[in-house]
Formats: sequence, C-alpha cells, structure tokens
Amino acid sequence: MREIEAAVVRGPEEHAVETVTLDDPEPGEVLVDVRATGVCHTDYHAYTSDDTDHPVVLGHEGSGVVAAVGDGVSTVEPGDRVVLWVLPSCGDCGYCRGGEPYLCQARRETRGRMMDGTRRLSQDGEPIDHFYAQSSFASMAVVPERQVVPVADDVPFEIGALLGCGVTTGLGGVTNIAEVESGASVAVFGCGGVGAGAVLAANAVSAGTVVAVDLDPDTLATMAEIGATHTVNAGETDPVERIEELTGGVDYAFECIGTPQTVQQAVASLGPGGTAAITGTSSTPPAEIDLGRFTKGISVVGNIVGFTQPRVDIPRYARMYQNGDLDLDAILTRRYELGDLGEAFDALAAGEVIRSVVRFEEGA
Ligand SMILES: [Zn+2]
Ligand SMILES: [Zn+2]
Repeated sequence: MREIEAAVVRGPEEHAVETVTLDDPEPGEVLVDVRATGVCHTDYHAYTSDDTDHPVVLGHEGSGVVAAVGDGVSTVEPGDRVVLWVLPSCGDCGYCRGGEPYLCQARRETRGRMMDGTRRLSQDGEPIDHFYAQSSFASMAVVPERQVVPVADDVPFEIGALLGCGVTTGLGGVTNIAEVESGASVAVFGCGGVGAGAVLAANAVSAGTVVAVDLDPDTLATMAEIGATHTVNAGETDPVERIEELTGGVDYAFECIGTPQTVQQAVASLGPGGTAAITGTSSTPPAEIDLGRFTKGISVVGNIVGFTQPRVDIPRYARMYQNGDLDLDAILTRRYELGDLGEAFDALAAGEVIRSVVRFEEGA
C-alpha cells in the first residue's frame, strides 16, 4: 500500500485534496501513476448530486504510466503508457464476449467499488469509494486491467486523457454507430467534449455539411476551426429551421448533452432516412418526439460511449491524432492542478470550456 494525493469528495460540492491510502492492485488490476485526467460532466454530476455516496474520489478519464500489476495481468507491464477507459466490464457476459462491452451491466454492480466488490482507497482505516473503478483525480489509481489501454509513448498524457470517455463518445458516435459516409450532412447539438469529438470525427471522415450547434460563441468558433462548415448559436437562431435551410434535413444528427430540448431538435433536424444518435444521461427528463418523423424512415439510436471497444478504438483514435486527422489539441481549452478542481468544475458548469484536464507532476 502507499500514500497518495487525491481529491476526496465528502459531500455535495465539498472536496479537498487529502493524503489517502491506496492498496496494492489485486489480481487482474493495475496500479497506474496518473499524469492527466479529463474533467467530465459525469464527474460534475456526481460532485453535485445528493445521490452520491461519500467519501469518494471521482475522476474517470485518466492517463498515465503503469507502476505495477497484480497477479494474472498479461496485457500491460510497468512503464507502459496507458489511457484509462471509463466503463468497467466483466469480460465474460454475452455482451462482452460478443464485442459489445459497452452494454455490459457489470458496472451497475461496481458502484463505489472495484469489480470484486471491495475498495482499495481508505484514510486512517475508513474506506473511501471508487468511481467507475478508476478514481483518477488522484496521483495514483488502481484500475481493472480491462480498462487499461496501452498507447504509443508519444501520445501526450493530456491527449490520452481526452480519449477515456467523453470525446471518444463523440468520435465513436460518428465512426462506430452512425458510420458517417464522406459527403453526408451532419448536425451536432452541444459542443462540449462529446460534441467536439463528433465534429472532429465528421471532419476526419470528410462529411459534407457539418453544422455545430451550441450556446457559447467561443466554442462555436473552435468548432469552425476543427471542421464545422456552419455554426448556429441556439440562443439566437432556431437550429432546426437553420439546418432545414442549409441541408433540407441532415443525414446524421448527434445529440451530445442529454436535454429534452436538444433530443427533440436532433430528431426534428433529420432528413428522410436520417439517423439521430442520442447521448442522453440517466438523469435526462422525458422528451417528446414527433412520431410523424418516423414516416420518413428515420432511426434513433442511443450513443453509449460511442460503442467503444477500448483496445480497438482508443489506439485507432490516438493514431488519427498522430496523423493530424483529429485536432484534439484545439479542444483542450484549459489545464488545472488537482488543487484547482473546484475551479475546473465551475468552468465546466458555466459552459466555458470544451474540455479541460487536471495534470499531475511526474512522481507526485
Ligand atoms: Zn466522462
Ligand atoms: Zn460483461
């Protein structure tokens, strides 16, 4: 076991950087020296929610270097550079065996715990909860091997951290779920990490018209830089009407923030035969959908983590970044120290950032 620095959340919107104890990795687990962790709405939701159990260490978009491995770990070794994937999966159920680990329900069992139901984090003997079996707002983390994805040594840690959840959900929405063809028309509703990933991927696959919809002018300017052919400020212009004018209805709409309004807009913006990929969240209120739209042969699909197979897709996206096909640097708009996590959450809540990361010093 070892002492590490971690942002411990002890109540809604109440946290401090504390020294806590992290046990050794158990069989099938990996000890990772964390170097960067993305700050995601999922963390913010848990940070502010009354439903979260405390104390807990959040953080589920980590990247770093393997420090040690538990018994039976065969796919990574100390010194490997890795991205930490968000979703726990069992590896054994029909979904996992069928190449759909994102549908595995094991993560429901892991709430606050590792896969075996126990915890590795504590302070003076008091257990501390985990988050997505990762808890990477900490200088080190113990993570199940299946969530630890090796990447090339020249992928920067902060770029690796972008590939652990939100951005990859957008990338996979375009490349795995919708399989957008070159020349197809695309609309993206909400351009945080997920939406920015969708715009980047639409550009990478040479989509035709790419309409980015958001409320923040700076975010829209960045979307234009990374491949949106048109931007719509939904605070000023009705995005559905504008998309109709521009495209006559898009082939693909990506709903990336999970509000009833954006879900309705994404479906309403489709042309005949179009597909809407809805990110949604478990806390999204019900949305009304005009069922008349279905007479145009539209499809609506849930975008859960971009249907990502971590060891297939994360190295693929890292390679696209290295080839210059995904300008992930453009969407990493702020960097923080662990002690500034509260500030990072405030900026996220205010919609001021596309994606931010918390960075850790080597060996800290
Ligand atoms: Zn996330
Ligand atoms: Zn499974």
